[in-house]
Amino acid sequence: MRLTLKPALSRGWRDSETLQFGTVQRYAGVLDNVDAALRDFLELLDGTRDRAALLEAGERVGLGREPAGALLDRLERTGLLDDADAAGAALACFPQPLRELLGPDLASLSLVHSGPGAGPAVLARRAERRVEVRGAGRVGAAIAAVLAAGGTGTVTVADHGRVRPGDCSPAGLPPSDTGRLRVTAAREAVDRASARRAPAGPRRAPDRRPHDLVVLAPRDGSGAFAGGTHAARQLLRGGVPHLYVGVVEEIGVVGPLVVPGRSACGHCLVLAREDEDAAWPRLLAQLADEGPGRARTPACDTALATAVAGIAALHVGLHLDGLRAPSVNGWCEVSAADGMARRLRLKGHPDCGCLWQPMPPG
Ligand SMILES: [Zn+2]
Repeated sequence: MRLTLKPALSRGWRDSETLQFGTVQRYAGVLDNVDAALRDFLELLDGTRDRAALLEAGERVGLGREPAGALLDRLERTGLLDDADAAGAALACFPQPLRELLGPDLASLSLVHSGPGAGPAVLARRAERRVEVRGAGRVGAAIAAVLAAGGTGTVTVADHGRVRPGDCSPAGLPPSDTGRLRVTAAREAVDRASARRAPAGPRRAPDRRPHDLVVLAPRDGSGAFAGGTHAARQLLRGGVPHLYVGVVEEIGVVGPLVVPGRSACGHCLVLAREDEDAAWPRLLAQLADEGPGRARTPACDTALATAVAGIAALHVGLHLDGLRAPSVNGWCEVSAADGMARRLRLKGHPDCGCLWQPMPPG
């Protein structure tokens, strides 16, 4: 392991002897009593030396072997060190053009995941992840493109029909795709975002491994209502985590993210709404599948759809990277009316029975 000070952290002198790494308070680490020897030693933490070489170098620059070791331990505890070998190996999991694009993403992961090599390990795992997005509208196609750009190894998009102007967005399908098959246009958006060239010759046989997560982002925005649809019940039974996303009228919704058996599901949300409004399931049924009550011109603000897609991709990433997304046992709403985002809590509904292994509330 060749150690380096995390390249994503800025360095600023608070006074002549106190060095602060990082600007954001949450990750900032401060070193005091920084003299010339310590300053020289810090310069050597550039990812070209392992611990043994650094201890030797500590002696050479006049810091001393033991103080150098204690300093390395402290830097590691504070989350300031990364493993340069692991970073290189993680990027090598991706094809060349994407590798170059992922530098800032890796830098971000190395801050979120503290220990040396932890961020690179998370990025390397992303290369193996398989996510399906159902719905290639303004929100769904954008989520797929963002996930692919962030290193998710396999992103597939399921939809039918041809692209309409209202499906297009700057983060998803371009207007020039109008009239093309949605599924083809979405696949190309994913390839573009991950700098992947379309493979020559016949396409590879489809990968039959189960998805790590499915995003339910139907074009009509009904993902915002969650609900225990047939598709959602199948995912629940199959143990496949899934995330509801949609923009309906002036509200964008991300969540719930359902971890089958462990967190509240879409049907829990319907039951919770029914407790407050007995007519809710009846209204919901009329909105489904070209029902007569549907809006004739569905609203979907472009900025709102893009924000929702970004938040959804962030939550998918958090979940797949082993952290808890705020849409687990809850959902996030973003409003086009005031630009505010808020999180609402969702409990497993006692009448649903979907929680056979509940996680602690959060
Ligand atoms: Zn449930």
